[in-house]
Amino acid sequence: MELICSQCRKPLVKAVRRQGGLDRLLSWFYAYPFRCQVCQHRFHLMQWGLRYIERDVDRREYERRPVQLPAKLQDEQGREYEGTVRDLSVGGCAMEVDAPLQKGTLLRFQLDALDNEPCITVETTIVRSAQEARLRLEFLRMAPKEKERLSQFILSLWLEGTQAARRG
Ligand SMILES: [Zn+2]
Repeated sequence: MELICSQCRKPLVKAVRRQGGLDRLLSWFYAYPFRCQVCQHRFHLMQWGLRYIERDVDRREYERRPVQLPAKLQDEQGREYEGTVRDLSVGGCAMEVDAPLQKGTLLRFQLDALDNEPCITVETTIVRSAQEARLRLEFLRMAPKEKERLSQFILSLWLEGTQAARRG
């Protein structure tokens, strides 16, 4: 059976870990949580007879796609930092930046993903971890239009398979 998102109908869904009482209750009835990798919708699907093995489900809500794309960050003081995005999902990315950015910093993020198109902009991202020049960024807030553009771009990465998208 192919698993599809109950909202956008795309077949790019990922099993995710249970969170809280409702998830646990539903799993008594073989309904398990999934996260759409395109529109971010979280939902439950019946998987009759399938036993849920928590350790087989990884902690990530989103599958990350390998990429190599130029991107720009801007902090609240207006300083800009340029770098390279190494993996990407609808929820965040890994980015290499040659700047001492601390965990918890809020930034504006602009991804130069496509030829002849303006950057995809995430109004607010947060630095979740910073190891040397590699940041793990989580996307917190973005305009619906930009979210749609990012979703479409991620979808194209999935459809292109394992080959990493490269630019710059
Ligand atoms: Zn969806």
